[in-house]
Formats: sequence, structure tokens, C-alpha cells
Amino acid sequence: MTLQFNRLTPLALAEPMGDVGWGSRAIAPIAQGTVVATFGGDPCDRREFDAMPATRRERSIQVDDNLFIVGPPEREPGDAVNHSCEPNCGPRNATQIIAWRDIAVGEVLTFDYGTTDGSDYDQFPCGCNTTMCRGQTSGDDWRRIDLQQRYGFRFSPYLLRRITCASRARQLTKKERVDMLAIYDRDPIEALTTALRIVTGRIHGQFRDMIHASYFSLGVKHALCDGDDAACDELVSSLNEFAGDPFIEAVSPL
Ligand SMILES: [Zn+2]
Repeated sequence: MTLQFNRLTPLALAEPMGDVGWGSRAIAPIAQGTVVATFGGDPCDRREFDAMPATRRERSIQVDDNLFIVGPPEREPGDAVNHSCEPNCGPRNATQIIAWRDIAVGEVLTFDYGTTDGSDYDQFPCGCNTTMCRGQTSGDDWRRIDLQQRYGFRFSPYLLRRITCASRARQLTKKERVDMLAIYDRDPIEALTTALRIVTGRIHGQFRDMIHASYFSLGVKHALCDGDDAACDELVSSLNEFAGDPFIEAVSPL
């Protein structure tokens, strides 16, 4: 018996589907709640992910702010569940997809990538042709109020955490800014961590995780995580001087 990284339910079959590449189609009735796909592979952070070949990056799933599971070098049936803006499946957890309703023989299995994607690694014009089609997928789709209302809690766990944190995020008070500057000279990362936990609402957030979940460019993210003095100075200045400005909005709804 050969074990695979990705598992597709035996009730479906992966096949080529024209423009969208591979897809999976039900070959037997699939009852609501059935696990249809389980994703496995190599876990990697964004930097490692970006260095992967495109043929592997397109068979991947984001499972945390800075963690992706990339499929094996050779395509497997479980890799092929495509996006739809009006899906019949969705995430049960970070790496499993279940049927959200009963699925008939011949139907294509789909899930909304907005329920699992939280960064810009897989954005594309959508041709799902459903009445709900957004026309374009985005790593920010999880922020959309219409999707949050439609899907309720049915997002990947890390995106649910972001949605919860966004409701808790707030600006720094004047005293918190003073405290941040007082600590900064002694321990920049501690000072920035404390401040970012407040503005992002992530009360247990780790510095690297909060930086990677923010809207900084990749270069800035890497500089901050490497402890680059100039990048840290710029961040603490921004947190101190621009509380309430777009900068805070950019990092707050994480
Ligand atoms: Zn669509």
C-alpha cells in the first residue's frame, strides 16, 4: 500500500478540467459533513514557500499566518479541489475539507479559498460562474463582512482567530506609547511586541507572527524579524507618532 500526502475521498475522482487545470468530481453521492480531502505535504514559512517551484506552490494551502503546507513534488488526487465563490465544501479545520451539503454524482467539489487563504500567495481572476462570484480572489477575502456573515465560523482556525482579534484591536493610549518608548531602548522587540499585541488584538501574539500577519512588504517583514535596527526604529516611530492613522489600520485587523 502506498501512502499519499493528500487524501481524496473515494467518492470522488480527480481529473483534468480544462482552463482550471485539475479538479475533483463526485462519482458517488457524498453526504453533508463527509471529509472529502485531507491535505498534507511539507510545512514551510513564506520565505521558504516563495522559493518553491510554481508547480508545488499551486498545490498548497495556508494553515497559519506564516505557515503553508505545500503538496509533494508529484501531483496527487487530493491536491485537486478547486475554488468557487459559491462552494459545496469548506474547511473542517486547517487541513481538511468537508462537504457543506449533500453532493450529487457528477458535481465538481469546490471550496471558497477565502475561507483558508489569508495572504496574497494565490490571488487570481475567478471564473466560477456562480451567482455569488466575486470576479477575483484575494488574500483579504476573509475580511469581507458578506463572507463572514454567510460562512459564520466556517473558516480555517487561524482566520477565525484573526476575525476575533480584529474585534479586539485598538489604538495605543498615550500612556502605552510612553511605556513603549521607555522599554524600547532596553529591549526593542519586547516594546514592539507589547504595542503590537494591543493594536492587533492578539493578546498572546508573538513578534514574528504579528509582523508576518501585517501589511508590511516582504522586505520590511524580513528586516524586522532579523532585528534590523533601522526597521525596528521605523516601526516604533510609526506606532508612536501615527496612532490612529492608516498605519494602525494596516496592522490592526489581524
Ligand atoms: Zn467566483
